[in-house]
Parts: sequence; C-alpha cells; structure tokens
Amino acid sequence: MKILEDVSLSNYTTFRLGGTAKKMFVPENEAELVSLSTEYSPRYYIGGGSNLLIDDGEYDVVVSLRAFNTKLQDDGDGCFTVGASVRLQELIKTVNSRGYGGIEYLFSVPGLVGGAVAMNAGRGRSYHQCISDYIQEVKVLRNQEVIWIKKDECGFRYRDSVFKNSNDLVLEIKMKFDSIPVEETEKARKERIALCKRVQDNSKPNFGSVFSESNNSIMNLMRKPVFGKKGGVMYSPKTKNWLLNDNGSFDEALGLIKRAELFHKIAHKPCKREIVVWSADKR
Ligand SMILES: Cc1cc2nc3c(=O)[nH]c(=O)nc-3n(C[C@H](O)[C@H](O)[C@H](O)COP(=O)(O)OP(=O)(O)OC[C@H]3O[C@@H](n4cnc5c(N)ncnc54)[C@H](O)[C@@H]3O)c2cc1C
Repeated sequence: MKILEDVSLSNYTTFRLGGTAKKMFVPENEAELVSLSTEYSPRYYIGGGSNLLIDDGEYDVVVSLRAFNTKLQDDGDGCFTVGASVRLQELIKTVNSRGYGGIEYLFSVPGLVGGAVAMNAGRGRSYHQCISDYIQEVKVLRNQEVIWIKKDECGFRYRDSVFKNSNDLVLEIKMKFDSIPVEETEKARKERIALCKRVQDNSKPNFGSVFSESNNSIMNLMRKPVFGKKGGVMYSPKTKNWLLNDNGSFDEALGLIKRAELFHKIAHKPCKREIVVWSADKR
C-alpha cells in the first residue's frame, strides 16, 4: 500500500479545490482496504474526485480508492464483474469491444465505477437512464464485513443510493449489459463526446451538475453574474446548474451553492445537492 504525506487534495478533484491530507493511503488490494478501514475507521474516501467539493482544511487520513480493485472480468453472456477502481471509460470500452453496452452516455463522466455506483450516475432526470439499470449485485464493505447485496437492497434512486453519504464502501459490482453491435456503441460514444462538447462547459475546472433537483428559472437566474459569481467561482453561462472554478476558493463555491439553495427556499421550490461537500471543520 502506498502512503503519501501532506498531499494537496486539489490535485485529486476535478474542481481543483481542497486542503491537505496529512496522510493519504492508497490501498492496492481489497485486503489492504479492509484492514485499513478496521485500523483507522477513516471518514474520507475519494474515488475519481469528480463530484466533490473539499474545503481548505487539514484532513488527518484520506483514502484513495483508485487502485484497490481494478478487476474487469468478462463472465460471458453480457455479464461482467467490475472492480470499484475501474474508470468508467475503461469499463465502457471493454464491454463495447465484446459486443455489449447500454451506458455509453457515461463515456463523458470522469469518475470511477465505485463512485458512479454510489452516486447512481446517469443521464438527466427526464431520460430515466442510470448505471443501476445494469447492476445485479454489489459487494460492499459494511461495518468491517464484506457482503454481497442484491440490487433491490441498494436503494437506487435518481443520483442516490444507500452507499452515498454512508459508511458503506462499494468494492465490486456484478453487471449485465445489453447485446449491441460494436459499430453502434462506437457511434454512441462518439455522439456522447460531441454532445458534451456542445452543451457542457469544460472551459474551467468543474464537478458536473451541482444539484440533482433544482428549479430551471432559479438556475437560469444564477447564470447572471450579479447573482451567480463570487470571486473566482461562477455558475457557467453556457451550462445550467454547473459551477466553474477560475482560481476561486471553497468559501466562494459554497457561498454560491447556498445562495441558490436560499433562492429555492424563498420560492418554496425543492432543491437537492448532487455534489458531496467535505468540511474538515464541519462549517
Ligand atoms: C465534466 C463532468 C461531467 C459529469 N457528467 C456526469 C453525468 O453525465 N452524469 C452523472 O451522473 N454525473 C456526472 N458527473 C459527476 C461525477 O463524475 C459522477 O457522479 C461520478 O460517478 C463520481 O465518481 P467519482 O469516482 O469521481 O466519485 P468521487 O467524486 O470521488 O466521490 C463522490 C462520493 O462518492 C463516494 N465514493 C466514491 N467511491 C466510492 C466507493 N467505492 N464506495 C462508496 N462510496 C464511494 C465518495 O466518498 C464521495 O462521497 C460529471 C462530472 C464532471 C466533472
């Protein structure tokens, strides 16, 4: 297991913000992760860091999930056993090359499979398509015990699962994909990338959509600099519900998130955060 010291967490998030991890453990197999969780009971686990806003505080222990399980096993007939550390792009390319698919819309998502399962990553709400459509069972570390749980016990909802904001760790997943010709999935991947270039603002570091539930009119209002800009952080004028970090700070980002939440509260409209916020000192 690699142990890194005084690590800047901003290098581990797509939003490029975050304080320091005094120790970052990078377990290289499942046994190391399990014994680490028993010994230290860490609170902070990071996958691809693509849905995280981290404050500038100091974290004693952070665990990186990038390397502990990179298994990508073809079990035949569209079934695959997939480690939580596998990158989504790698999963999709491998599954597609064997003549299967269904989640090519996640080809643009810079996360790991474990993070995608915890977040139940997918397309926008109106499409009713998410990674859990292809999940059969999930291997989880729960209360120091490794168990397999069936899909219907995973509490999958829009951008939510029993694993999000809990102590459960997703270790491995059994998935079953649709049979789709290679040319079709290749086309779908290309179309996804082209669509994202058109509609997603990747001009600056970001973490994808901020809220999983929000009001269109309010989020349009937030695109106006007078409401939606604080120092180096702003809501993207191009992509709704999307924060950009141009050398800004955690306080600016959180301030803009709270401002949008306040507007929803005043207007009596529902609003739910999609991103996960870490605060070392619980602000
Ligand atoms: C440019 C861009 C585009 C995006 N597009 C989409 C999109 O189309 N659809 C979509 O749904 N999301 C999208 N996202 C958001 C994000 O990429 C996904 O939610 C992704 O699946 C998160 O995975 P991650 O590995 O980066 O998780 P992280 O950001 O590392 O972690 C997120 C949370 O999950 C927890 N976690 C991570 N791994 C595990 C694990 N193995 N077990 C238990 N908990 C875990 C972490 O502790 C944290 O609480 C986008 C983000 C970006 C930057």
